[in-house]
Amino acid sequence: MFNNILFVVLGLIILFFAVIIIRALCFKPYKQPVVSNETVDFDRDVAVENLRQLVMCKTISYTDKSLEDEKEFDKLLSLLPKLYPNVYANTELITFKSRGILLKWKGKSSEKPSVMMSHYDVVPVNEEGWSVPPFDGVIKDGVLWGRGTCDTKITLNGVMTAVDNLAKQGFIPENDVYLAFSGGEEVNGEFANETVDYFDKNGIVPELVVDEGGAVVENVFPGVKTPCALVGIAEKGMIDLKYTAVSNGGHASAPKPNTPVVSLAKACTKVEKKPFKMHLTVPVRRMFDVLGRHSTFVYKLIFANLWCFGWVLDLLAKKSGGEMNALLRTTVAFTQMEGSSAPNVLPPEAYMVSNMRLNPSDTVVSAFNEIKKKVSNDKISLEILHSVNPSRISQVDCDSYRKVESAIISTYKGAIVSPYLMVQCSDSRSYGKISDKVYRFSASDFTKEERAGIHGHNEKIRVDVISRAVEFYIRLLKTC
Ligand SMILES: [Zn+2]
Repeated sequence: MFNNILFVVLGLIILFFAVIIIRALCFKPYKQPVVSNETVDFDRDVAVENLRQLVMCKTISYTDKSLEDEKEFDKLLSLLPKLYPNVYANTELITFKSRGILLKWKGKSSEKPSVMMSHYDVVPVNEEGWSVPPFDGVIKDGVLWGRGTCDTKITLNGVMTAVDNLAKQGFIPENDVYLAFSGGEEVNGEFANETVDYFDKNGIVPELVVDEGGAVVENVFPGVKTPCALVGIAEKGMIDLKYTAVSNGGHASAPKPNTPVVSLAKACTKVEKKPFKMHLTVPVRRMFDVLGRHSTFVYKLIFANLWCFGWVLDLLAKKSGGEMNALLRTTVAFTQMEGSSAPNVLPPEAYMVSNMRLNPSDTVVSAFNEIKKKVSNDKISLEILHSVNPSRISQVDCDSYRKVESAIISTYKGAIVSPYLMVQCSDSRSYGKISDKVYRFSASDFTKEERAGIHGHNEKIRVDVISRAVEFYIRLLKTC
């Protein structure tokens, strides 16, 4: 009897291992689309010089509008018709209340329009941290230095140079193409909403929207050494949440228990100790399914068997934090805190702020309620300072995604194209209202150093990356 049970248990264990190993062995890479070897024709030196000109415009956005230099924005806008004359000769310019321009390139049909988005404003610089002046357009050793080179005048120049060259050759796109460039993306400007309203009112339903987002990057997925081209098919939401605790204040020499700072510290610890539950949302599932197949055998054992190893992933992500963890759950980062104004005074009021990034499985309301539950202290008041829900999730099994995928594969040869969840915010979230084919891909193959320059010191880009951005857009526009 005992022997029989032992054999059954042993049999089940062997079966379990056999199943997970066979699943891992069968977890082979998907076939990627055919690479086009057609060469694209344009003057690469002109493309680099044009981007250099754009970078030399100091188009810095500030939340405090009075700090902005409107002349620099005007300078850039008046440069565009000079740098890309064939674009302006072949498109209609539509302007809005906010800074930003929409150009309509009429196609043979208006049935399946595309929108190519970018922005020409940049974040401020701290010049002391830079090795070269950030707005001088310095090129040395095949690298263009400057604020905005990567984020994201490179894509603006990419799409403008592409249209300029195609239009010059007499090319007319199959469908209308709109070029939408914001002048205030870095400060959540209104341009994206204005253009979406314009499309909505005019019954224009984009069949394809491309905005900044993922890029061609290396060493971003466990066990994958090949460069990965990440296409954001959704982005997380956000809440800035303020926690306030009050007391009667008083002298610090005779404190009572649970002063405001202590209450806040306890709340902070509770939230940190109980992370939000892991949820494998569609974009992340698709990413694991595509990239997991290119990983090493040990990781394949996990990614091919998430039905039984999901908890391992959860544990590893919780321990390591960072990007992998951010893909799996709503995250909470405590960013600000303030108590009293003197070391020996108990604060009558203290507050802290957390910046939360919402997984597509959450909403602003559900995430807020969960924090309330975690804190479970009526004496701490919670106030949402700013919030946005996660974006709509775009389709992957459709021609629009495949067009982006083909243009990527033919330009960045050897890269694996994969959908992913963007953990930052972009203007393209507004387009969820009118389209479920919104793809977030910055046409650039970034090195680790180049990525570090985005919003940081010494932003720079190799000149051949500038040309590849143009190639990508020429290939994509030919299919639009
Ligand atoms: Zn940007």
